[in-house]
Amino acid sequence: MPQPLRYTLYADAPHTHRFRVDVHVAAPDPAGQELMLPAWIPGSYMIRDFAKNVVALSARAADGQALSVDKLDKDHWRCAPCVGALTVSLEIHALDLSVRTAYLDTRRAYFNGTALFPRLPQQADQPCELEIRLPQGAEYARWRVATALPALDVDGAGAGLYRAADYDELVDSPVEIGEQLRAQFIACDVPHEIVITGQVRVDLDRLSRDLKAICEQHIRFFGEPAPMSRYVFLVLAVGDGYGGLEHRASTSLICRRDDLPQPGDSGVSEGYRTFLGLCSHEYFHTWNVKRIRPAAFTPYDYSRENYTRLLWAFEGITSYYDDLGLLRAGLIDIPAWLQLLGETATRVCRGPGRLRQTLADSSFDAWNKFYKPDADTPNAVVSYYAKGALVALALDLTIRRATGGERSLDDVMRALWQRYGCHGIGVPEDGVEAIASEIAGCDLQAFFDLTIRSTAELPLAELLAEFGIDFTLRPAEGASDKGGTPARRTTARADLGLRTGTSGEELRVVHVIDGGAAQMAGLAAGDVLLALDGLRITPRGFEALLDRCPPGEPRTLHFFRRDELSSVTLLPLPAPADSVYCSVSTQPSAPVLERRREWLGG
Ligand code: ZN
Repeated sequence: MPQPLRYTLYADAPHTHRFRVDVHVAAPDPAGQELMLPAWIPGSYMIRDFAKNVVALSARAADGQALSVDKLDKDHWRCAPCVGALTVSLEIHALDLSVRTAYLDTRRAYFNGTALFPRLPQQADQPCELEIRLPQGAEYARWRVATALPALDVDGAGAGLYRAADYDELVDSPVEIGEQLRAQFIACDVPHEIVITGQVRVDLDRLSRDLKAICEQHIRFFGEPAPMSRYVFLVLAVGDGYGGLEHRASTSLICRRDDLPQPGDSGVSEGYRTFLGLCSHEYFHTWNVKRIRPAAFTPYDYSRENYTRLLWAFEGITSYYDDLGLLRAGLIDIPAWLQLLGETATRVCRGPGRLRQTLADSSFDAWNKFYKPDADTPNAVVSYYAKGALVALALDLTIRRATGGERSLDDVMRALWQRYGCHGIGVPEDGVEAIASEIAGCDLQAFFDLTIRSTAELPLAELLAEFGIDFTLRPAEGASDKGGTPARRTTARADLGLRTGTSGEELRVVHVIDGGAAQMAGLAAGDVLLALDGLRITPRGFEALLDRCPPGEPRTLHFFRRDELSSVTLLPLPAPADSVYCSVSTQPSAPVLERRREWLGG
């Protein structure tokens, strides 16, 4: 049995925002030990080149003698051969307040192993140990370590030794260190922990109860026993922020502190619903993408892009089940779920990119399109999350219709789990479609050609009607209108075909939509809007100004492009019907009502 690789993490100088890491290799490669840092973190499909944060790297032999290190490329090194054990020391800057990298200051330490721990290509499959050393001093006396990694030998604060079966587990187990609020619950016999960092007031009992309902819903969906022996929700609560990343036995989340349930609150606020939806989403990934995963990720190649056309299935289907999980767990009702569905459909309908990019291509090109948004993104890119969720809905209803309600997308997911996920076998690029056709009992190629490989509109209105749901399109009623609700306005509203952002008192064009009034007038992303018909444009007053502009009447718009003053004549168009509102049909026939009940309950 080889000695495990030992990684030692020092968070002993938080004020420098630099972690120190020692990698202790008992039996290094006699030809010279190679090591590399990942270029990306699974779950976030973008090359991030974590090695850019390495400030120093050195190596020494067992006798303390310094060894030379050759840098082979941007994130790949080779140490000179040595006799006996090898220790490689790194210093790594960490100040990214996201769930994807690493962060260290005097209030908190957080890391994903992909940002800090070099991978030894020949020893990546062998067990490793992580020793965590905390900073000393009274100000750090209340720091605690939270991670899904199993502890081998730790003190009351959680400092000490953890183990991982291999490199993949080491880097798939983020670690949160600082002062924390904690709560525990059991879901289907699995211990779960919620760890919250940040200054918060929160009703932990309520949160535990609601998360337990979600976790039990998803565990029972795929079938007991759950594939993990323990699970940890790592939550960073901030003034404003949102994000999550899935892992095999934990998730890292960033949320607004106001979205967490306050003591004394009873209903589910919009913010809390968003937070629960995020938890549900990342938890569903414990199966779908962490274990049921594309063959293209089996194993992960940490050095480069891993291409698959299946992200719509891993992110889209997960996005369908995240909110549906809240409904099935009894945390929201059917009207609330339909509102969320309407908002998702609205996001898709408002992007002309859906007519330019297929879902398969959105998946494949995630690395340099979806993850690198720019001024043209709404015109060129479709989200494999949002459109993927709508395709999951359409697929679910199509299978229910084809089998007279006997089978559904639920069965497809369970078959994917039984056939691939629970055996650690990667899903081939045609694997989801093959299982869906098998479950539906008919060839679904035409369905997938239309929904995944073409840019045709999805047949949602027809499908939903058969299940007693009305799908209505209406014009947007303002910049804050997310869709999902019925029309409130009776008069036609003008649309300029642009999306704006504010910086201070400036209103800046962020996106110019294809075919809209702004594009026809020649506006560009980056233009600063100054006046409409001689009246000053302010971020807060812009909507009211637009309300006084009926469609079809030319307007003069003044703006700055860079530092040059310009003006154009703008012809506002009627706002397009691109906002979706879903509602239960008022007088469905008995068979339609029965289909809806089988699908949504209630
Ligand atoms: Zn996701």
